[in-house]
Amino acid sequence: MKAVVWAGRNRLEVQDVPDPRILNARDAIVRVTSTAICGSDLHLVDGYIPTVKKGDVLGHEFMGEVVEVGPGVRDLRPGDRVVVPFPIACGACFACEDGLYSLCENSNPNAGMAEKLMGHAPAGIFGYSHMLGGFPGGQAEYVRVPFADVGPVKIDDDLTDEQVLFLSDIFPTGFMGAEMCDIKPGQTIAIWGAGPVGQLAAASAFLLGADRVIVIDRYPYRLERARRTGAEILDYEEVNVLDALRDMTGGRGPDACVDAVGMEAHHPTPAMYAYDRTKQAARLETERPYALREAIMACRNGGVVSVIGVYGGFVDKFPMGTVMNRSLTIRTGQCHVQRYTEPLLERIRAGEIDPSFVISHRMPLSAAPHAFDLFKHKQDECNKVVLTP
Ligand code: NAD
Ligand code: ZN
Ligand code: ZN
Repeated sequence: MKAVVWAGRNRLEVQDVPDPRILNARDAIVRVTSTAICGSDLHLVDGYIPTVKKGDVLGHEFMGEVVEVGPGVRDLRPGDRVVVPFPIACGACFACEDGLYSLCENSNPNAGMAEKLMGHAPAGIFGYSHMLGGFPGGQAEYVRVPFADVGPVKIDDDLTDEQVLFLSDIFPTGFMGAEMCDIKPGQTIAIWGAGPVGQLAAASAFLLGADRVIVIDRYPYRLERARRTGAEILDYEEVNVLDALRDMTGGRGPDACVDAVGMEAHHPTPAMYAYDRTKQAARLETERPYALREAIMACRNGGVVSVIGVYGGFVDKFPMGTVMNRSLTIRTGQCHVQRYTEPLLERIRAGEIDPSFVISHRMPLSAAPHAFDLFKHKQDECNKVVLTP
């Protein structure tokens, strides 16, 4: 089959790789009908997530048709249409029982690798490094889906792929980013990053009752998409973000701040950017956490900083004094997607939201290297790419 393969730093190829096979009783094989490129893939492609190897198949946002099931999968049949959550979860361990699916204790066969870096291991994730399980991903014609009796959500024929595809990742992720803010009526939520995740976090914050949402980025076409959710926008190349947020909130600061940027933040002032960029390149720190630092500084006293942007390792110049003295709460995580798929599918069905508003490009899987290029460099007003095998 054809699949998108990591061929080295900033090198992707569409290659022929072996078809997946059922390995365990609870596996299913899914023929992919739609898959997407996520901001998290960029961290892999750029070489900032450790333990990615040449030949690894990428992709963790996908849906398709079940073509084969193992004997332990009773509720799926060949022909079923499913969306597959990006974290792989057994549904029965200590973490899964608690709804913490991205921390499943049974789905990461390489837990030992992750423990060395992180203390304890999170769950396995499709197409996201060997430390996170080494599972071939969904930017491919077929995928093996472990624990297929737990994650995949069946989709009725009256909904299109584009309406439901993002239930696999960025809709639940944006929603969880907003939910972690613990929004109360009248509150103002600020969101760093007007990418598809930030846009869906903005839309979700309104669904959860936020009064005002302010989205920060530097790409006018992305800010414009965020504005269409009802958000106010700030271009950080035009204003000082901390001053602007203070002015917009009567001096107090937003009630909660969402980091939807992650480890490769860009920096408006060259000096700090150079500092983080140099340390990141020399592997002295693994992140460029500029948006996170700013979100912490901006948040009102006693507020919440919700971090859905992905980080891989170690952060430098972390303003812990601010967090401690101003009683801030930091909440974060890889999304516990399985917790959100059914309720968010209901919201899509009820017409409360159509997450396909983030899509800017539709391309064949064979064009993936070019699509990654557009998405990475934010060219051709690229916001979100859907690939079809
Ligand atoms: P993206 O690359 O499309 O968007 C990131 C946006 O951040 C860009 O528009 C960029 O201009 C903006 N940005 C960069 N530096 C900034 C700064 N200093 N201030 C404000 N904005 C800045 O990516 P995406 O697909 O929207 O994903 C965003 C983040 O969410 C990534 O880190 C991704 O890995 C993460 N993510 C996390 C989860 C999860 O489960 N927690 C799931 C999906 C994605
Ligand atoms: Zn993702
Ligand atoms: Zn589990």
